[in-house]
Amino acid sequence: MSQAIEEVHASLQRQFKGDLLRPGEDGYADARSIWNGMVARTPGLIARCADVPDVQAAVRAAAAAGVLTAIRCGGHSLAGFGSCDGGLVIDLTRMRQVTVDPESRSARVAGGCLLGSVDVATQKTGLVFPSGVVSHTGAAGLILGGGTGWLTRRFGLSWDNVAGYTLVTADGSLVHAGAKDNPELFWALRGGGGNFGVVTEFEVKLHPLTSLILGEGLCAGDGVPHFLRRWREFMPEAPDNLKWNIGLRLAPDTETVPAHLRGRPVVSGALVWLGDLDEGNRHMDRALTLCHPATVTKKVVSFLELQTMADHEFPHGQRYYSKSGYFSCLNDNTIERMVEAVATIPSLHSQIELAYLGGAMARVAAGETAFGDRSTPFIINFLGNWSEESADEANIAWIRNVFNALRPSMKPGVYINFMSADEDDRVPEAYQERWERLVAVKSHYDPTNFFRLNQNIPPKKS
Ligand SMILES: Cc1cc2nc3c(=O)[nH]c(=O)nc-3n(C[C@H](O)[C@H](O)[C@H](O)COP(=O)(O)OP(=O)(O)OC[C@H]3O[C@@H](n4cnc5c(N)ncnc54)[C@H](O)[C@@H]3O)c2cc1C
Repeated sequence: MSQAIEEVHASLQRQFKGDLLRPGEDGYADARSIWNGMVARTPGLIARCADVPDVQAAVRAAAAAGVLTAIRCGGHSLAGFGSCDGGLVIDLTRMRQVTVDPESRSARVAGGCLLGSVDVATQKTGLVFPSGVVSHTGAAGLILGGGTGWLTRRFGLSWDNVAGYTLVTADGSLVHAGAKDNPELFWALRGGGGNFGVVTEFEVKLHPLTSLILGEGLCAGDGVPHFLRRWREFMPEAPDNLKWNIGLRLAPDTETVPAHLRGRPVVSGALVWLGDLDEGNRHMDRALTLCHPATVTKKVVSFLELQTMADHEFPHGQRYYSKSGYFSCLNDNTIERMVEAVATIPSLHSQIELAYLGGAMARVAAGETAFGDRSTPFIINFLGNWSEESADEANIAWIRNVFNALRPSMKPGVYINFMSADEDDRVPEAYQERWERLVAVKSHYDPTNFFRLNQNIPPKKS
């Protein structure tokens, strides 16, 4: 252990209420691992905070000793930003309180919550917070990057539903940011990721919802490009209540997939309808009839069932790599290239995910948040998912090649939550004309770039 990390440990031991874990100590091995099995790092110290003063103490001690520091909520950063070698991890996994106020339809969500902890607490009173699609993802990392999911078209991005943030900044101060307090920081937090401090609490807005219609359709062979073209044409006219996500992959070997399709390139569509059931059934039937899928299912499910249905597809410890981009429109050539690419996927678990955003999310003005341009509706995510280290090269190369082939038809921009570790150079692309304003906020709140294990916005050199 380095001298600097020894200093941090000694300083924290005097006051820390949570757990301090060093290599070799009980609990360290479990605490060290993060979701992406490609990222195996060995922090010098994991400070598992019990409360806000613990977070303040950890930030102050690490800043004083000049120790590299990672912030961890759910540990699902694809890039592995939730850990580091030799440095300090400020781990928020003990801070998972959710306090719901059904009357004002709002909640206070602590900085270490998983999406599942938020969903379970809010559903007790029939309310929801719009977030992501896998319940073991960290709420803080997801919200700070944007937060897209099944409810985005109806209620906006996660942070469109955040009224205030409480955070520990780089000097250890506790700061509140909202429409009236520190409005520039509030603007920057809605897009700037973990650059400005450790968020210990989000004040979020909730919406009533307990059940919905889930429809699924699967198509193989020549039907795949047809399916994608119909989806492309249908979505711009679709009501906000309908979300329709697409997966291009090799069909899994599961009972729900007809035997003759397993292992073949397929397109799967998952449709979610929020609201009146009769109206939803009409929209879903129309959408699926247009696409001629080989198999169709449709059922009413609970919100909690929806939010956990994909959990098993993304287990902890697998090897993951991703790249992402936006399309203003999907032309036939792009569709053909995507379909060709699926035939060469090296892993049965990898996929090309497509979603159509729009709706409430697109109605927030570009300048209102640091997220910026919301007018590009098609988002693509190439998600590599495999288990053997020996297959790293083939899987990463497949994603890079397909991404590079499609990049000329993409609109510049990238969603920071889907970025991998080797994409530092794309951070300014994510923010574009908002970059200088973000740099100014960063320079004010974190002039030494203490919070740098993230999609980093470096402060101005003084
Ligand atoms: C299986 C899976 C499913 C996903 N699904 C979606 C989805 O549906 N929609 C979507 O938009 N994204 C999705 N993502 C992407 C996800 O939003 C990002 O990976 C996000 O960074 C995960 O947050 P985390 O807290 O789990 O990550 P961590 O690794 O814990 O943290 C990542 C980074 O977030 C910052 N951070 C975390 N907590 C705090 C905090 N309290 N204060 C300040 N900064 C903090 C830090 O910079 C940290 O380095 C998914 C990712 C995975 C792995």
